Amino acid sequence: SAFLKNIEAGNGALNAYVAVTADKALDMAKASDERLAKGEGGALEGIPLGVKDLFATKGIHTQACSHVLDGFKPTYESTVTSNLWADGAVLLGKLNMDEFAMGSSNESSYYGPVVNPWKAKGSDDKLVPGGSSGGSAAAVAARLCMGATATDTGGSIRQPAAFTGTVGIKPTYGRCSRWGIVAYASSLDQAGPIAHDVRDAAILLKSMASVDAKDTTSVDIEVPDYEAAIGQSVKGLKIGIPAEYRIEGMPEEIDALWKQGIQMLKDAGAEIVDISLPHTKYALPAYYIVAPAEASSNLARYDGVRYGLRVPGKDIVEMYENSRAAGFGLEVQRRIMVGTYVLSAGYYDAYYLKAQKVRTLIKRDFEQAFHAGVDAILTPITPSSAFAIGDKELAADPVKMYLQDVFSVTLNMAGLPGISVPAGLDSKGLPLGLQLIGRPFGESTLFQTAS
Ligand code: GLN
Repeated sequence: SAFLKNIEAGNGALNAYVAVTADKALDMAKASDERLAKGEGGALEGIPLGVKDLFATKGIHTQACSHVLDGFKPTYESTVTSNLWADGAVLLGKLNMDEFAMGSSNESSYYGPVVNPWKAKGSDDKLVPGGSSGGSAAAVAARLCMGATATDTGGSIRQPAAFTGTVGIKPTYGRCSRWGIVAYASSLDQAGPIAHDVRDAAILLKSMASVDAKDTTSVDIEVPDYEAAIGQSVKGLKIGIPAEYRIEGMPEEIDALWKQGIQMLKDAGAEIVDISLPHTKYALPAYYIVAPAEASSNLARYDGVRYGLRVPGKDIVEMYENSRAAGFGLEVQRRIMVGTYVLSAGYYDAYYLKAQKVRTLIKRDFEQAFHAGVDAILTPITPSSAFAIGDKELAADPVKMYLQDVFSVTLNMAGLPGISVPAGLDSKGLPLGLQLIGRPFGESTLFQTAS
């Protein structure tokens, strides 16, 4: 009830929720109370959560914040959310996001932008919460839920967490089942939590993660007790600092924050080592080939026949065209065009195949660092703090917006886990984060180091 009141008071200004499931939340909470009264109950009994609109929730609004999925209510529940409910968590509602998880500012949602609860000192400008999980991050930061599910294909958990002073972890590819999560780029997509602090993130991920027969890319490795890693000493851990993340034009403040993080870990007894990830600079361009390619294929299913919106035409082909033209926003259309182009016969080898090869090189860079004994890698996570909604420079040039992801996409290309932790405020008084990148299935080390 307290959280529903917060939502009622705060959501008008923030636009974080696109659907609030008040009755269901109270029913679930009541069932939780009953289980607790009987001395039963799971790890998340009665904990009210928000769910990104990308996760299928049975009988409940699931539109990936797209017009093309108008009115879609799935007949099934995603594995990740099923896991949460099985542990006793309570659903408060569905959270706003960039349409089909494409974006870094939450401005491409059919439901309009999410407003970051943070404001710069002395300014009333509305800022973006980051994207694509902007609703999840804003709702957690503004106390409109205790934690939220999110997804990360190229930074969508970690960047919004950094922009809102929250914690977000993208686990290893295969750690959480992708079943029932609307697909963006299937070889990159992973679910993870956004939470108030590292401990909450550890508790949530433990519940979300599982092997799943319905997703053959999910991995059958025991999910450890992540919470046990919280507060463990980092003495003797080897933390790598990659030279290639000191990019040209990086603001002084981000660099200073990074140095401060390095010093903190040193003071705590970690061993700091300089490392090189030489193919880092190719990660962003390769990502923006691979992700649109997979997206163009995944989004072929929205044809006006099976789901959501249908706009009639004189024959079936025109109906497809009309439905897709009206249903997809401009950013999604741009990705479909780029993706179709790089997959087409004449260009496949030049772009898509090349990007896949680059991906292998990026993965090898990390493997070499870990082989040399590095336990985790510390980097910045965003090249700036939260920017203004409608920022003219970013809106005018999609490539500038894509550059927001320069620190975040590399680990998705390699399938590795990464966590974003609040690390300080910039001169405008806005939160900034730092990122830790881990070995495959090294989430516990990330929680340990992040905490
Ligand atoms: N900003 C990136 C993109 O638009 C990442 C999005 C994501 O992680 N879902 O592709």
